[in-house]
Amino acid sequence: MDNKFPGKDISIDDIKTKFPLVAKKNKDHKSKFTISNVEFGGNTLPIFAGPNMVETEDLIMDVAKNVKSLGAHFLRGGAFKPLTFPYRNKKYTETREEGIKWLGLAKEKYNIPIITEVMEEKYIPLVSDVADILQIGSRNMQNYPLITACAKTQKPIMLKRHYGASLRDWLGAAEYILVEGNEKVILCERGVSVPHTHRATSRFLLDLQVVPAAQELTHLPIVIDPSHATFWRAWVRSMSLAGIAAGADGVMLEVHPDPENSAVDPLQPIDFKEFGSLVNDMDKLAKILFKKTILNNKIIK
Ligand code: PEP
Ligand code: MN
Repeated sequence: MDNKFPGKDISIDDIKTKFPLVAKKNKDHKSKFTISNVEFGGNTLPIFAGPNMVETEDLIMDVAKNVKSLGAHFLRGGAFKPLTFPYRNKKYTETREEGIKWLGLAKEKYNIPIITEVMEEKYIPLVSDVADILQIGSRNMQNYPLITACAKTQKPIMLKRHYGASLRDWLGAAEYILVEGNEKVILCERGVSVPHTHRATSRFLLDLQVVPAAQELTHLPIVIDPSHATFWRAWVRSMSLAGIAAGADGVMLEVHPDPENSAVDPLQPIDFKEFGSLVNDMDKLAKILFKKTILNNKIIK
C-alpha cells in the first residue's frame, strides 16, 4: 500500500515519526472517551450548539434550554471572542467574566455541559471552572504556550483548525496537547481560506476532504463547524449533512433565537426551528450510514 497522500506533503510514516501520540497505531485505532457522559468515538454523534457570543444571561439561558431539548449534547458560546477587528460598540462587547458566569448558570439549570473558548493563559482557571471542554480558536491553533497551558489542566480540549493550516500543522499542534498526558482531544474543521476564484461564494470553504484524511492518520475525533465555514445559514444544513456523510465524529452549530440580530456574524446562525429539524435529519443519516445516534433517551424536554 502506498502510504503517501496524493499531495505528498504528509505520509503515515511521517506522522508516526514526528507526531507519535496523534498517529494511529493501526488501521482500526480510534480514540474512545467520554466527556460529561457524552461518548466520543463510539455510537453517539455529539452536537455542540449555541450562539457565537454569550451576549446576555437571558440569551444563554434561552439557548441552553432550547438546544438541549432539541438534542444538543454541549452548549457552545464565546465569552472571550477573537473578533476580526478591534472596534466595539455596546452590542459587540465581549462579556468575559460575566459571560463565563452565565454559562455556569445555564449549565447548572439545564444540565448541559459547556464548551467555550480560552484566549489567554491568565484566564484558564476562570474558564476551566465552568467549561467542560476548553476551545482553542482557529487563530490560536499554533499558540503553543497557550495550548500547553490548557493541556496541563487535563481538561478536554477542542482544537479548531486555523483557516490557513495544513493537516500536518494541525496534527502537530494536537501533539502538543497529547504530550502533556491529556488524551481528550477533539479536532474541529471550521473552513479554510479560499483562493480569490471562490470568494464570490465563500469567505471560507468547509474542507470536507480533511475528514477522511485526518481519520486515515489519527485516532482523534474530528468535528465539523459548518456555521463558521459557510458564514451563511442557508448552506449550514447541506454542509452538516455532507459532513456526517463524510464521516465526521460530531457537528458544531451556531444557533440563536433571533439569528439576524446575533451580536456577531448574524449571517451564520440558524434558529431553533431549523436546528431541531436539522438534528432530526442528521440523526437519521448517522443511523443509516454509521449506526450512530444523536437523539437518545437522555434528552429532557
Ligand atoms: C468560535 O467558534 O466561536 C470561533 C471564534 O471560531 P473560530 O476560532 O473557528 O473562528
Ligand atoms: Mn466567529
